[in-house]
This record gives sequence, C-alpha cells and structure tokens, in this order.
Amino acid sequence: MTCTSGCRTKNHESYGDCLKAKAVRTYLASPSKGLDGTRQKRWSADLAAYRDAVRQGIQPDSTNRASVEKAVRRSDETGAAYGRDFNAATSMEG
Ligand SMILES: [Zn+2]
Repeated sequence: MTCTSGCRTKNHESYGDCLKAKAVRTYLASPSKGLDGTRQKRWSADLAAYRDAVRQGIQPDSTNRASVEKAVRRSDETGAAYGRDFNAATSMEG
C-alpha cells in the first residue's frame, strides 16, 4: 500500500506522490464539499447583487439570484422597495 488512507484513485507510485496529489486537490478547493471555484464565484456574485439590493432598501426573499432579481425588478416597476414597502404577499391590485 503506497497510498494515503483518503486516496480515491489508489494508483500513486509512492506515498509521497499520493500526498502531493492530495495536497493539490485540497489547494484547488474541495469539490466533495461543493466548494469548487465556479460555484464559489457565482455565490459571491449572487451575494454582491443581494447586498446591492439591500443597500437600496430592498429585501429580497433570499440571497438566491432569482429572488434578488425579482425583488429589484418589482421595486423598479413600482418605485417602492420590495420587502420593505411591499412584498410578494402584498396585493398589488388597486
Ligand atoms: Zn494515492
């Protein structure tokens, strides 16, 4: 057995190579935890949009991009801050 206990491929030439491969994977973040770079980046962008909205007095239903965009669009349409002045449950009729 030349591989470390957590090795998935178990095909490394030596214990050292295995450790190295493991270290590289860790450095690139852990896909197993759902924290790959792309997702992290998207999450950051979503959060930035959310913060922008909140700064304008808007309170989206969630930090989810779709919720943020909906809240901003509704706010633009009505000229009022979604989540503060009204929300999805508020009747917009009349
Ligand atoms: Zn290995």
